[in-house]
Amino acid sequence: SKFVYDFTEGNKDLKDLLGGKGANLAEMTNLGLPVPPGFTITTEACKVYLDSGQEPAALRAEVTEHLEALEATMGKKLGQADNPLLVSVRSGAKFSMPGMMDTVLNIGLSDASVSGLATQAGDERFAWDSYRRLIQMFGKTVLGVDGELFEEALEEAKRAKGVRVDVDLDAADLKALVGQFKDIVAKETGRDFPQEPREQMDLAIRAVFDSWNTDRAKLYRRQERIPGDLGTAVNVCSMVFGNLGPDSGTGVAFTRDPASGQQGVYGDYLQNAQGEDVVAGIRNTVPLADLEGIDKPSYDELMHIMETLETHYKDLCDIEFTIERGKLWMLQTRVGKRTAGAAFRIATQLVDQGLIDEAEALQRVNGAQLAQLMFPRFDETAKTQMIGRAIAASPGAAVGKAVFDSYTAVKWSRSGEKVILIRRETNPDDLNGMIAAEGILTSRGGKTSHAAVVARGMGKTCVCGAEELEVDTKRRCLTAPGGIVVEEGDLISIDGSSGKVYLGEVPVVPSPVVEYFEGRMHAGADDADELVKAVHRIMAYADRVRRLRVRANADNAEDAARARRFGAQGIGLCRTEHMFLGERREMVERLILADTDADREAALGGLLPLQKADFVELFEAMDGLPVTVRLLDPPLHEFLPDITELSVRVALAESRKDANENDLRLLQAVHKLHEQNPMLGLRGVRLGLVIPGLFAMQVRAIAEAAAERKNAAKGDPRAEIMIPLVGTVQELEIVREEAEQVIAEVEAARGVDLKLTLGTMIELPRAALTAGQIAESADFFSFGTNDLTQTVWGFSRDDVEASFFTAYLEKGIFGVSPFETIDKDGVGSLVRSAAEAGRATRPDLKLGVCGEHGGDPESVHFFHEVGLDYVSCSPFRIPVARLEAGRAAA
Ligand code: ADP
Ligand code: MG
Ligand code: MG
Repeated sequence: SKFVYDFTEGNKDLKDLLGGKGANLAEMTNLGLPVPPGFTITTEACKVYLDSGQEPAALRAEVTEHLEALEATMGKKLGQADNPLLVSVRSGAKFSMPGMMDTVLNIGLSDASVSGLATQAGDERFAWDSYRRLIQMFGKTVLGVDGELFEEALEEAKRAKGVRVDVDLDAADLKALVGQFKDIVAKETGRDFPQEPREQMDLAIRAVFDSWNTDRAKLYRRQERIPGDLGTAVNVCSMVFGNLGPDSGTGVAFTRDPASGQQGVYGDYLQNAQGEDVVAGIRNTVPLADLEGIDKPSYDELMHIMETLETHYKDLCDIEFTIERGKLWMLQTRVGKRTAGAAFRIATQLVDQGLIDEAEALQRVNGAQLAQLMFPRFDETAKTQMIGRAIAASPGAAVGKAVFDSYTAVKWSRSGEKVILIRRETNPDDLNGMIAAEGILTSRGGKTSHAAVVARGMGKTCVCGAEELEVDTKRRCLTAPGGIVVEEGDLISIDGSSGKVYLGEVPVVPSPVVEYFEGRMHAGADDADELVKAVHRIMAYADRVRRLRVRANADNAEDAARARRFGAQGIGLCRTEHMFLGERREMVERLILADTDADREAALGGLLPLQKADFVELFEAMDGLPVTVRLLDPPLHEFLPDITELSVRVALAESRKDANENDLRLLQAVHKLHEQNPMLGLRGVRLGLVIPGLFAMQVRAIAEAAAERKNAAKGDPRAEIMIPLVGTVQELEIVREEAEQVIAEVEAARGVDLKLTLGTMIELPRAALTAGQIAESADFFSFGTNDLTQTVWGFSRDDVEASFFTAYLEKGIFGVSPFETIDKDGVGSLVRSAAEAGRATRPDLKLGVCGEHGGDPESVHFFHEVGLDYVSCSPFRIPVARLEAGRAAA
């Protein structure tokens, strides 16, 4: 096989073999653009080297052959004393990777050739500047010398001369600096700076190969799931010089604005400079537009080339170029990074220009970008005082008065105050406070802590795990490093996208994209925001092609209505436990404490009309669309007082000899219901089977509500009843029998056919493994991938983030938490086989997914591929899921 490709031999589709940089250099060469000649050593050669510790036997001869050809083209030899050919040795993997080796410029210079270069260029200073750069870069990246040492010497030379910038050093200064640099190399490495040009080149090539396996590169690959065996290519490119005086320079450019997508002239230029000076920011660059005044012919040529590249790549490109004495050279191009907003705008602009079609436009954006565009942001120009930084758990920018408990959060927000709820950590009792708050700040817990998960679900800003902030809920204050104290009522601002916490009010700018989804801004309006227009069009493309339907997780009419505005096609998960909280908690207590059937029925009878009213509202908001109602799922103790608090209360009362009968019974019940592993305990379908009448009451409430909607309002309710935590078909059969009886009663009494369906969640491994049997008794499956992930991995979602997930992520065991993105190989394969088994039993079985994964971009693609009918996610994630479902199908 062949290990070396001339730039004329490659093309942009050979990124696997030639790396991104090499493939694009070849593409530009073949487009006839002015690229300095050179060649690329393939990733295959790198792989052989990494496997065997030696370059492939044929490589040396091939490099020699290509180098000789290059020398012939250029009319000079590498490092030739009187007229040296110089080259750069540039790394370039398929994916650009931080932690990989940098580029070494000016290879071929030596004590022998530096004066030849000076004579040829007619510029002594330039030659010594190039040489000192070589020793500096080579010393640092190839020989592993601490770069600071060179920097210090350079600084010292400038200080000694009393100048600020490197261009003010003259030939003699630079020559002296070269001497010092060589001393540094000799002292640090125990050998002299290599003078032999080919040895310089070979060492640099090998250093690029080796850099594939630095710790940082390895870690980065594990986290980004880039295979470890791709290897990197190496580009050897003849040098062109931007440091040959004021008619030379180097710059970077974008074919359009990467921040807004607007067409125009974007970039930076630096006169009399080489390579990395622009990015390193050592001198002030000028805007690219100024090049027109500096060197009009080069400027015009560059503009023309940029247009050629955009048309050719059909996308925004970024570019590195150098001008050597009025001659323009292209040194790199690639499809450029851009902001989320620009991605949407550019995609639609390119459609309008006829460069890409709608399907391609969908591939040019993604759900993460859309999500980013949906959050309000802090005004970047504002002055701020940061008091802490922690985990960015749920994006957005929130400002409000600090409150330290839910009660105050609710009370203050009712009187029109904006509040930030600050807790050490949150639990289900904080829910009302979280709903009332603008944002949530906790000092404990990670990305899957209660606060983080719930906040993400609600689309509410959350910063969590701010350990440097000491939260004292009793004294209602927070202490930040430096003794800054935030008291209840003080204003603070939290940024859920960066994790930053600020004292005081930072101004916020709302998201026009949300205004659009909410229907408060219209894409058709003349003065509509360009971004909104672009989002509107892309969403239309996505909706046109997607096969997956998108439903919402919503428990109340307000969420349901918003979900509908955001494009939900029904509710995939209505949790009923929220309907048992607040003032209704007392009734739940009565139900749990009931000794007799009569007591129990009385308690249930009290709950029935309340539940029914909830459902009526929900069915109204989702009229004509399916609403999946999950029967009660969480363990009952969650509805009872905290065991410690209650024990203390009872003990105190007893010591005063006025123990309250109800408290005593409650305490007994709490003890009885106490479980070591409530997550694996009495919950879900098990509750329904153990507490007589509970599920029947819920089914009746659903059926009555549906009947009412049908009869009184002539509505079109489409309820689906869902049984949680089923492990075997027998459980489902028992519940179904009872439910069908209740439904039949209601239908007979109200004279309607309700067409209720009854299905189950698949959230236990056993359910997934016996899905074929379970389907006999289920009209639909909804994969509860949160619980399924917990039970398949044996991870407790509430604990693992804080305990060992960070270590797992650091070690690269997973690149992303399996609670965030579905674990395709494990949990995902169970979903796939259960879907197949279910459909084998019942071909019309409806399949969906609810839980965090339903709104996660990568997971949505997986669910599309597995053939589910819908995903369900929180209202705020619906546009993201629609977009990703479209991208998966396009
Ligand atoms: P990176 O991937 O870090 O951008 P590059 O290989 O592109 O590394 O090179 C770093 C800098 O050196 C860039 O500004 C590039 O334009 C410049 N450079 C690379 N090769 C040459 C060359 N042959 N002649 C002039 N400048 C070069
Ligand atoms: Mg570059
Ligand atoms: Mg569950």
